[in-house]
Amino acid sequence: MTVAAEVAAVGGTMIVGSTGFIGRFVAEACLDSGRPTFLLVRSFHHSATLSSLRHKGALLIPGSINDQDLMEKVLREHKIEVVISAVGGESILDQLVLIHAIKSVGTVKRFLPSEFGHDIDRADPVEPGLAMYKEKRMVRRAIEEAGIPYTYICCNSIAAWPYHDNTHPADVIPPSDRFHIYGDGSVKAYFVAGNDIGKFTIKSIDDDRTVNKSVHFQPKCNLLNMNELASLWEKKLGHTLPRVTITEDDLLAAAEKMCIPESIVASFTHDIFIKGCQINYALDKPTDVEVMSLYPDASFRTIDECFDDFLAKISVASVVVDKRANEDAIFSPNAPTVVDKVTTKDTI
Ligand code: NDP
Repeated sequence: MTVAAEVAAVGGTMIVGSTGFIGRFVAEACLDSGRPTFLLVRSFHHSATLSSLRHKGALLIPGSINDQDLMEKVLREHKIEVVISAVGGESILDQLVLIHAIKSVGTVKRFLPSEFGHDIDRADPVEPGLAMYKEKRMVRRAIEEAGIPYTYICCNSIAAWPYHDNTHPADVIPPSDRFHIYGDGSVKAYFVAGNDIGKFTIKSIDDDRTVNKSVHFQPKCNLLNMNELASLWEKKLGHTLPRVTITEDDLLAAAEKMCIPESIVASFTHDIFIKGCQINYALDKPTDVEVMSLYPDASFRTIDECFDDFLAKISVASVVVDKRANEDAIFSPNAPTVVDKVTTKDTI
């Protein structure tokens, strides 16, 4: 069978949350794989993201997963075989309605609920992160009870500086002034590039070995602690930065503030970099599979390469600031000198 014929033989994949942080990576990887890709979209105001995905061949379906009748209609009409949800933390329980629709239609071969983090049956963060995990656990149990074939994506941390108050750290350049090091900075975590989260998620959706399994992303090349991450970024910058310790108590206090979503991120940061929730268990359940063992020939982007990308963004930002400073100098001879060319999100 030719590649084109193989792709045509694949049923539709519907992605929920493609305008979001994780969903966009998944949608792009799905389109890159050549699968018929349908994006369920609540609103069309994310014009740049949606028009780029549309340009790559995505078909947009208006709607929300809250609407069971609509979901059943969409799944039937578009012959959807795979549903991938990447809804955000506030919408986790909306997926219960979607699960009812999938069960009722009965033709979906695989459902991937919105996980994309830790193994939520193992990890045990403090509140308010725990509340989100309890909701994600409810969704898992509902899927299993409904007998819907599933895959849980446990991709660990996004490859970026792990700011403890930012839900989307990959959108923020690593520090330029000082590092906040959690605890003694020695607890390791797995860092995975957004594109790889998308790529391996899509690889898993029609792989028989991942049916009713949790797929763990544990790329050995990207297992680093905070101290190693800081040293790597210093190497890229070409100079050292001061290191400020954020203690376990600091993180717990940030979590206790119940400032959402920052406190949720603080509770996960505590779980990762103090308690070691990504490394303190063995993959010993029959439902565990590890992505590098599944796809030994596929490569992961290294955190080193991801940091190169951040460095390139700094260079672009510097050029823009320099250009603006020059323009200011032309029109305003007394304009202040631009000292801090790049601003990063400050924390605590
Ligand atoms: P975002 O908040 O960035 O995006 C959520 C998306 O879901 C949006 O596109 C939103 O659409 C859509 N959505 C929400 N509710 C509905 C609904 N009822 N019907 C249809 N679409 C809906 O989410 P994130 O990318 O931050 O989170 C996705 C998952 O990834 C979560 O499970 C989260 O815990 C996890 N995550 C993991 C990270 C990691 O480092 N491993 C980092 C960040 C998230 P609209 O545009 O209309 O609002």
